[in-house]
Amino acid sequence: MRQKNMLIPTLRNVGAEVEMASHRWMLRAGMIRQSAAGVYSYLPLAYRSLRKVETVVREEMDRIGAQEVLMPSLNPAELWRETGRWETYGPELIKLEDRHQRDFLLGPTHEEVITDLLRNAVNSYKRLPMSLYQIQTKFRDERRPRSGLLRGREFLMKDAYSFHGDQETLDQTYEDMYNAYVRIFSRLGLDFRAVEADSGAIGGKESHEFMVLADSGEDTLVICDHCNYAANIEMAQLEGDQETPERERIDNIPPMEKVMTPQTTTIEDVTQLLNCSPQDVIKSLLFMVDEKPVLVLVRGDHEVNEVKVKNALDGDQCTLADQEMVRQVAGASAGFVGPVGLKEKVQIVADFGIRQMSAAVVGANEEDTHLLQAVLGRDFQVDQFADIRTVQEGDSCPRCGGDIRFARGIEVGHVFKLGTRYSEAMNATFLDQQGKEHPFIMGCYGIGISRLVAAIIEQHHDDNGIVWPLATAPFAVHLIVVNPKNETQASLAERVYEDISQAGVEVLFDDRQERAGVKFKDADLIGIPLRITVGSKASEGLVEYKLRRSGDSGIFSAEELSTRLPELLKQTDQTTVS
Ligand code: ATP
Ligand code: MG
Repeated sequence: MRQKNMLIPTLRNVGAEVEMASHRWMLRAGMIRQSAAGVYSYLPLAYRSLRKVETVVREEMDRIGAQEVLMPSLNPAELWRETGRWETYGPELIKLEDRHQRDFLLGPTHEEVITDLLRNAVNSYKRLPMSLYQIQTKFRDERRPRSGLLRGREFLMKDAYSFHGDQETLDQTYEDMYNAYVRIFSRLGLDFRAVEADSGAIGGKESHEFMVLADSGEDTLVICDHCNYAANIEMAQLEGDQETPERERIDNIPPMEKVMTPQTTTIEDVTQLLNCSPQDVIKSLLFMVDEKPVLVLVRGDHEVNEVKVKNALDGDQCTLADQEMVRQVAGASAGFVGPVGLKEKVQIVADFGIRQMSAAVVGANEEDTHLLQAVLGRDFQVDQFADIRTVQEGDSCPRCGGDIRFARGIEVGHVFKLGTRYSEAMNATFLDQQGKEHPFIMGCYGIGISRLVAAIIEQHHDDNGIVWPLATAPFAVHLIVVNPKNETQASLAERVYEDISQAGVEVLFDDRQERAGVKFKDADLIGIPLRITVGSKASEGLVEYKLRRSGDSGIFSAEELSTRLPELLKQTDQTTVS
């Protein structure tokens, strides 16, 4: 393609509100333009890369036998009322009315539509299992759509759904999808980890997220470099059963003692006033787990992990109780809640770490008061011990006991085992061999296609612009003619352009009437892997090459193009100068 006629509106600067590297480079390289917050046009360069990502995804989906379909973005509210999500999905759901005042929404995900499709089209076990996927624009009214393509309100997703008559084939398809995702992200040249994840609002039991490692990522991951353990911080486990304190130590502890601790609302205030360490204090927090108050205990230096609490109690939702509820249950405000002498009996769940404490400082359930020397089993009881705290730096790997580290990640894919949540709600059933009716068992599998393009740039850029991996670069070669008015240069460049195109290699030909400096700057910005320049040595039939990633450069005769081109393309993804 000739750059002269292409829409590549590069920019020298972007506003200070642009924080993410991918957002900045995509704007500056003339790849995207914003119409409204989180709503973008993909210009030719971006769209070419995007289609390459789509191609890799399609190939790997087709390879595991998933069939491509395209469902409507405009979804009737009735389907979403059947599953309850019309009401529960929340403010991200974009709702609208048609001219007859009938409710519709713009699909943020397609469990309802596909379950409706299958309940009407498939009714026998003989058709199962079946996997379907689509690559489609999704709509979510995100709260903070400020990161370019990483979080759009309109974005491209690959979403796949599988339907099964039994758990075994679901397990098999889940594994196939998981492996397909590993191949996809590897082919795209990404450094990524698959992590155990919470299945969140979509529901279901088993789930993994695929995370691209990048310091700019929103998610925190816990990674073990010794055994490959990786988990989202929400889910990262700790070593479970820890020792309970010895009986003797408990016998020696004097009885509890009440102390006045006015205005101590935080653990820090308490430890300062009582001159103790956070490890000696029990943090007691009242949560609502599916409308039921539950008192949660962790050591003073630990943080409660709400996802783990929710999962330990097999609940759907877990939030901090409001002040009113705290008063009702404890008879005091939040800073003075404890497990001894609650006004109302509630379930008490404690982290395993609590079992190791012998005597602890706890809130007294009286305003401005704490208790010293509260002893588990003597002064208070716990209904359930569980791993409910967040992993911290210095903890060890739950699998191998080695050192863990924290890393930031961008979620690019998610696989879930949904089970029968949607098929039951929507009465989507099939007949088994005996003619008995069962709800479909389902799985769902998403990949953020447009987010992936941005995630690739988050991992592949430098101070001058994007550094595309060959697999997703909008073009493989950037051909630059330094002075198109010079006839020798122009004609050699035309010939080289012909030859590269003939070889079936995608080439962007910078034939613009611009200063050489401008062209080179733009070339670095756009980040095409191999640059070939036709300049002053054209009279000797020589051209210059430069690899965007390693900076490696050299000169060769245009006559050798057919042998040099494949060699050079092979070197484009290498980081070191050879
Ligand atoms: P996030 O936690 O980032 O909001 P999610 O859990 O809501 O993601 P899913 O519902 O699992 O995402 O959607 C499947 C995939 O779609 C995600 O793994 C992600 O790659 C992509 N995705 C989700 N929301 C957006 C968005 N607003 N913009 C671009 N891609 C998105
Ligand atoms: Mg989301």
